[in-house]
Formats: sequence, C-alpha cells, structure tokens
Amino acid sequence: MTTRPFNFSAGPAVLPEEVLAQAAAEMLDWQGSGMSVMEMSHRGKEFISIARRAEADLRDILAIPANYKVLFMQGGAIAENAILPLNLSRGGRADYVVTGSWSLKSQKEARKYCDVSVVATNEGDGHTTVPSPSTWALSNQAAYVHVCSNETINGVEMHELPDLKALGSNAPLVIDCSSHIASRPIDWSRVGVAYGGAQKNIGPAGLTLVIIREDLLGHALPVTPTAFDYKVVADNDSMYNTPPTYAMYVAGLVFQWIQRQREGELSGLAAIEARNVAKARLLYECFDTSGFYATKVVPEARSRMNVPFFLPSDSLNDAFLAGAKERGLLQLKGHKSVGGMRASIYNAMPLAGVQALVDYLNDFARRHG
Ligand code: PMP
Repeated sequence: MTTRPFNFSAGPAVLPEEVLAQAAAEMLDWQGSGMSVMEMSHRGKEFISIARRAEADLRDILAIPANYKVLFMQGGAIAENAILPLNLSRGGRADYVVTGSWSLKSQKEARKYCDVSVVATNEGDGHTTVPSPSTWALSNQAAYVHVCSNETINGVEMHELPDLKALGSNAPLVIDCSSHIASRPIDWSRVGVAYGGAQKNIGPAGLTLVIIREDLLGHALPVTPTAFDYKVVADNDSMYNTPPTYAMYVAGLVFQWIQRQREGELSGLAAIEARNVAKARLLYECFDTSGFYATKVVPEARSRMNVPFFLPSDSLNDAFLAGAKERGLLQLKGHKSVGGMRASIYNAMPLAGVQALVDYLNDFARRHG
C-alpha cells in the first residue's frame, strides 16, 4: 500500500485504495481475457459475468428484495430528476419534501412533467433540520413522495426514512440516496425507488443506480425517451443501450470490498456502518468541544457523510486550506452556496483520515484561537 493523501471531496470522491490497485493490475488484461474491461463488448460473456456479479453483490449488501429491479443507468441523479417523473407521475401529482439544495433542484425539474406539491420544507431555517414527517402535508393523490435522504451540500441526513403508510399515504417513497447509499442499510418496506449517482460511495462518475419495486414499472409517459423508460431498461437487463461498463466494473470491485470489511464481530455493510458512526462522532465531537469551529445542522439531522463547518472568520479560510493541503488533507473547501468548509467522509475514508483531520483542526484552533 502506498501512502496517499486523505481526500475529503464531496464527489467524485475517495475510493478504496485496494480497489484502485486491483483495477490498475487488471487494466491491460482482465483475468486472462487479453482485454481491458474498457475494451469488452457489453454483450460478451466476460462483461456479462462482471455485470451479474456486481448486481448480485449489491443485492446481497443492501438486502434488496427479489421484487425490486436494479437498473444500471447513466445521466446521474440530475437526469433522474426528469426521468423519475416521466416514469412515475403519470402526469398527475407528486409530493416533494425539501431539505436542501438537491431536493430543491429535484422538485423544480419535476414541475416540467407533473403537478408538484412541496409538502414540507426547511428553507426557513437555512436547510439545517429535517421537518418531522408528521407535519408533511401529504396528498392522497400523489403518484409518489420524493425525498433526498442525504443532502450532500447542506449536510442534512434522514437517519430514519418516513413510514408513509403510517402517515396515511399509499404513495411509494422515492429517495435520492446519491451521497449515502451503501453507508447504512435501507428499509425496503418503506421505499419504492432508491436512486443515486455512483461517484460518492460506489465508484466512478458515469453510473447511476436505480433500484425500483416491480409494480412501479410500465407507467412511463409516452414522451419518455426509450433509453430512460425504467421498464425498457429492466426488460433488457440494463443493456437496451450500452451501459457504463467500466464504471460498473469498478462499482463491482467496491461491492466486493464492502463485503470483505470486518469491524469486531460485524462484517460487510454492518461493519461499514459502525465505522461511519465512529468517524462522524469523532469529527462532530471535535467541532462541538473546540470553542472555535461552528456547525449549523441540528444534531439529530447531522449527516454521517458530509460535514459542513465554519471557521470563526472567513479571513482564515485560505490559511486553513493551505495548511490542510500541506498535511495531505485535500478538498476541504465548502460548497459555494453554503461557504466555509466541508469534510466528506464516505465509506472509503478510513478512521485514520478523520483522525488526521481532527489533529489538524485542533492544531489550527490552538494557533488561531
Ligand atoms: N443529488 C445528490 C444528493 C447529490 O449529492 C448529487 C451530486 N452531488 C446530485 C443529486 C447530482 O448528481 P449528478 O451530478 O451525478 O447528476
């Protein structure tokens, strides 16, 4: 293993070094095939075996029930903002919960295709809370209810998904889980569709995952581009068009890496989740006890993946970032809409990386406090 810097990018983001090393070793010749995965036909037996294993491993990790399809698509979560209402809304009404920049964007795009109702929003508190589901103004008519279960920019996470049935709604819940997929289990009894771009916890950019309950297929509006009709994609095992083959291969290596993880008695996703809890606790504790740094999100909605934080004065930001870079702590600048700093601590960020960041945070606060 080499000693690489710790990369806190929000995405595309850090990948497990073991995965990068394996991809590098297999770059010119995948398992004696004489081909790079990039050079393989997506319909050949070699790539089909890669795709099948990737799907099986993802199903295993996330305990995806048999009546859900896994679709490997392209266009990212931003394209899904349109693809989803095209497939699910039937031109009727859809309910959206706004908890940050990404869900705000989702509901805006959906308005092109259906009648959108924002049933709850945290805009009033600057995207720092999750409005309690009991206050959501859900409609009986909604074709679906959309939430962003982890707001990457604002650092707001839903630690429990809403139980729509208990709230009196029969609509399927749709979650944009781009930035925390595979960081914790998903309660499928509460979810109709989960989607996300791969470039945070899963692999390279270019791959979008859509996991959809079968009864939600087959309702696309006639204008839906054929390549984006979920039923067409499902019926063709994600090979109606050429899928992002190399990104799927790397994602498959990441799934195997997740399966190999151990943390005490725990293994696989449970080990990953325990590590994520420990990493987030270490970092938030540093901010809470520093008397120097500030965070804005209320404790119960704090994201385990994306942690925005602020120095006492913006005039210190450049010095902070320069010092961080010198210590091998990269990409800590906050999103421009929020300002300050942001540390993204996805699955592939080791505890040692968060510890190195905390050591630097404490040191910087001592020198500038
Ligand atoms: N939703 C969320 C929660 C995200 O984090 C992102 C990317 N940062 C997007 C949507 C947009 O993804 P993409 O750029 O891959 O379309």
